[in-house]
Amino acid sequence: MKFELPQLPYDTNAFEPYISCKTFEYHHGKLQRDYIAKLNSLIPDTKFQNTDIETIIKIADGPVFIYASLIWNHTFYFEGLKPGNTSTLSGPFADVIKRSFGSVSFFKKTFTNAGISVLVSGWIWLVLNSKGTLEILKECQSGNPIRTGFIPLLNCDLWEHAYYLDYQNRRQEYLDIFWKFINWEIVEKRYYDSV
Ligand code: MN
Repeated sequence: MKFELPQLPYDTNAFEPYISCKTFEYHHGKLQRDYIAKLNSLIPDTKFQNTDIETIIKIADGPVFIYASLIWNHTFYFEGLKPGNTSTLSGPFADVIKRSFGSVSFFKKTFTNAGISVLVSGWIWLVLNSKGTLEILKECQSGNPIRTGFIPLLNCDLWEHAYYLDYQNRRQEYLDIFWKFINWEIVEKRYYDSV
């Protein structure tokens, strides 16, 4: 199976000036493209050559796992963003958030604080657990919650390449603007497709 670079669901300048065109061009057009090229170079003539990416993430180790997971995590992150600051968290899914975290504001605060507490490159995730409630998970490097049986609903890229061109070391500012651009419709769809 040859993996292809998915198109971004928006223009690279859609989040200016908060996340720059330069960041998206590098993040998607160079890094994500390189991860896909790496995985495509690693899997021919291995047991993974006809395996879908989720299965690779669950069972592979070493570079095959790392690149598959980085590809999946980035596609999920890019799809979870929406330009225009028009998407709102409301309705039944907001109630699901409130049931798990007490309030939407406490959820956002907990997610942001968890993102700040990851002191290396990594990811912060909102996931659905096997009991049907929501949790926030921290992952380092190329970690992915589907490997440990969770269903991802939302993630935020905490690698410096995601924000350094725009915010340098000010990760808090990047995490604060992240809330402006979440595609809540897709997060809700991920949830209702899974329960
Ligand atoms: Mn990234």
